[in-house]
Amino acid sequence: MRRWRASAIVLAACALACPLQAWSWSGHALCTRPALAGMPELARPPVRAESLEHFVHAEAPGLAVLLRDHEAWARANIPNYPARPDTLAFKAQPVAGDAAAVPRFLQALRMNGQSRLRLFVQRMPGAKRDGQVPLPLAEVTTLDRRSSDADNPFIPIAEGEAVEALDVVATASAEPDYGLDIGLFADNGTEQGQRYGFGKQPFGSPSVDYSSQAPFHMGFFHEAAIVDAAAGFLKRTHTESRIAQYTALARHAFATGHDYWGWRFTGWAAHYVQDLTQPYHARVLPGLSTLRMLWINTLDLAGFHGAKADAITLVTNRHIVLENYQLRRITAAHLRGDPADPLLVALRDGTSDGERSAFTPASARHVVSDEAADSADALDARLEATFPARYVADATQPLGNDADRLDMSQIAQAAPAAEREALDRDLARLLARYGRHTRAVVRAVLAPR
Ligand SMILES: [Zn+2]
Repeated sequence: MRRWRASAIVLAACALACPLQAWSWSGHALCTRPALAGMPELARPPVRAESLEHFVHAEAPGLAVLLRDHEAWARANIPNYPARPDTLAFKAQPVAGDAAAVPRFLQALRMNGQSRLRLFVQRMPGAKRDGQVPLPLAEVTTLDRRSSDADNPFIPIAEGEAVEALDVVATASAEPDYGLDIGLFADNGTEQGQRYGFGKQPFGSPSVDYSSQAPFHMGFFHEAAIVDAAAGFLKRTHTESRIAQYTALARHAFATGHDYWGWRFTGWAAHYVQDLTQPYHARVLPGLSTLRMLWINTLDLAGFHGAKADAITLVTNRHIVLENYQLRRITAAHLRGDPADPLLVALRDGTSDGERSAFTPASARHVVSDEAADSADALDARLEATFPARYVADATQPLGNDADRLDMSQIAQAAPAAEREALDRDLARLLARYGRHTRAVVRAVLAPR
């Protein structure tokens, strides 16, 4: 049962602030790989890397039909789906070598036209480089990110090069965070945003680079009372349409012999499902009681805004702490190469794959994010109990971008062993779902139709 009701004012303020830190699960590739490594479906000969240009040129007529049918399906079946303007429909050109085919394809998908989409794989922490020169980050992501060569895990691959399916799908599962959904709203100051039909950004600050992807990577499907009463803008999220779109493309690619793109689109679809397993992507303000929310709002209306600002800082800090801890723990597990690490065990645990696990278009809303929303309050309390107050209970110390320098797995060592073990059990439970739903996406793509 949901413990709270909130006013539009508090929600609007939080929704504005929270996505500024919405990095989602950190290290998607580091989690996708153990989740899928044991699947017989991936035990196939390597695939041949294929550029997007080649795929789109080879498949243009089929893609035109697929995307037309998919748009009709989305309009009829996805709640709150903003229809793609008909002028953006993908049309196969009769001329070979149509130089604008890829931009027209991205436009029909309403993706960021600046998306890099190079051929590359992400190496796991500690993997040998064998002299390979990494791909500059600017060739991977549209976001302004820096890295030394030693820390850069992205290795370019060549057209036609043999590559393992697991490398393709794991790498691709992180890719939607590299700018694919940036600048798509009408008020993002981009030309594409004027044409895409998504309207104004429903939450998040239009002026912060990666916050404009938040409505594509979060889904507040279980705030019903609040949403219906006051905050309809929270319904304007697009995870479901992304999952459906990339799942359809993956099936088409496999069916037409483009296995590289079959796996890459599968990884893209999996990303959005994985994001919805993160409780801070499935609930707006975990951990606040009805009474507390109402009191904060009363103070705010009376002109005392501090309590509202404090609530936003605290939920943002806990979101950051969870993702930092998870990334540090999973990176360390890969570096140790210990298959018995409880987080790796949880990710590959297929013992409940038979239960509620078939992935359907309704699963993201009714299973994946529902599970995450139900876990949110308890997880929020666990974080508060485990970490020093300055990180999770002190609203005067916003973590912000500086949090990347922290290592929450080290900081957690100060907590009693029982608290740390309980946090790891909670995290393992979340990652078990992450693994189960990731495998379900792969099975759904490969299922005969
Ligand atoms: Zn994401």
